[in-house]
Amino acid sequence: MTDLGTVPKHFLSDKVEHFTESVIREMTRQAALHGAINLAQGFPDFPAPPEVKRAAVEAIGGELNQYAITWGAPNLRHAIARQMKAWQGITVNPETEITVCCGSTEAMIATLLAICNREDEVVIFEPFYENYGPDSILSGAKPVFVRLHPPEAQDGDWTFDERELRTAFHNRTKAIVLNTPNNPTGKVFTRDELELIRDLCVEFNVLAITDEIYEHITYDATEHISIASLAGMAERTVTINGLSKTYSVTGWRVGWAVAPPAITNAIRKVHDFLTVGAPAPLQEAGAGALGLPAGYYQSLASVYAERRNRIMPALEEAGFRCYRPRGAYYVMTDIGAFGFADDVACTKYLVEEVGVAAVPGSSFYNHPREGAQQVRFAFCKRPETLDRAAERLAKLRDLRKR
Ligand code: PLP
Repeated sequence: MTDLGTVPKHFLSDKVEHFTESVIREMTRQAALHGAINLAQGFPDFPAPPEVKRAAVEAIGGELNQYAITWGAPNLRHAIARQMKAWQGITVNPETEITVCCGSTEAMIATLLAICNREDEVVIFEPFYENYGPDSILSGAKPVFVRLHPPEAQDGDWTFDERELRTAFHNRTKAIVLNTPNNPTGKVFTRDELELIRDLCVEFNVLAITDEIYEHITYDATEHISIASLAGMAERTVTINGLSKTYSVTGWRVGWAVAPPAITNAIRKVHDFLTVGAPAPLQEAGAGALGLPAGYYQSLASVYAERRNRIMPALEEAGFRCYRPRGAYYVMTDIGAFGFADDVACTKYLVEEVGVAAVPGSSFYNHPREGAQQVRFAFCKRPETLDRAAERLAKLRDLRKR
C-alpha cells in the first residue's frame, strides 16, 4: 500500500470514504508489476479494425480537432439513431434524445447525477459492474441490491427471485440499473425477465437505466433485447452504449445515453459541465464504425465465442468451476476446489505466483463475503495470449483439494 500521508478530514468529501479505487483497474496495475498476463480488465490485446482507425486519422487530418457540439457530433448521433432502429426497432430523435459522452462510464454517472435526488433509491442487480456502486454514492442515491443467483448446472442461467425484486421497489425507487449482456456473469436477460422488470417500472413509476455495451457480443444464438423496445418503456428508459467493446477501442472514450427529451435535456446539462464533450475526431470515426456491415458484428460474436470455448476448458482443467457466459467477454468462476482463504488470496496468488491477473469476485458485490468464492476472467484477448495463460494456469492443478 502506498503511504498517502494524512490531511485534515474536512479537506475530503465524505462521499469518497464510501468507496475504494476500482479493483479491476488495480489488477491491471498488478499485472504490469508482476509481468502477469492480464485477464483482469476487459480490453482487447489485438488491434482495432483498420477502417475504424483510418477514419480517426482522417478526421484529425481533416481538422476535426476542435470541440464537437457538446451533446455529440451530428454524424455520430444520426448513426446511433439509425443503428437503434436497425437492431432493436427503436425510434430515436438524434436532435433531442441522444447525448454523446466520454465513454458509457460518463453516460452512466451523468444520467444518475441528472435524475437522482438525495436518498432516492436505485435498484441494482448483484453481482454488478463495479462502477455502479460509486456512481450511486456520487449521485446521492441509495443502492438497493437484488441478487442474481448462480446456476446449479454449468449450462444454466443466472436467475433472480421475482419476489425479491418486487420487494426492492417502492415509493422512493427512482430507477433500476440493468446490464445486459451482463458483466461479470455473462447473463443475457430474457424477454420474460425484461417484461417482468417493465411491469414493475410501470407500476412503481420507475426509470430503467440499461447498460448495453456488450449488445453485439452474445453466444449460442442468444438474443439481446433492449428493454426500451418493450411496450411502455421508451418513455422511461435511458439506454447506454458506446464504441469501446463493439469496435475494440476502449481507450477512445466515446459512449452515449439515449433517453426521452426531458431526461436527455437534464443529462446534457450534467454532461456539459462534467466534460464539455467527447473527443471530436473519434466521434467522427465512430459514426463510420457504426455503419460497418452486419458481417462485422457476426464475426465479432463468433470470434469471441471461439475465445470463450478456448479459455473455459483451460479454466476447468485447472480446477475453476465456470459459469458459462451467454454474452459479454468474461467468465465468472467458483474457486471452491482450491481451498484459498478467499477470492483476494486467490487472485494475489494468481498474479504473483502463476502469472495471470484476474478480478476477485468480491469487487462485484456490496458485501465482499458474497463474492469470496468467485473470480472473474476476461477473454477478450488473442488466442495465443489465452493459450499462454492456460499453460500457466495448469500449474494450479496440484493445488486442488483432494
Ligand atoms: N459498462 C460495463 C458493463 C462494462 O463492463 C464496462 C467496461 O468494462 C463499461 C461500462 C465501460 O465502458 P466505456 O469504456 O464505454 O466507459
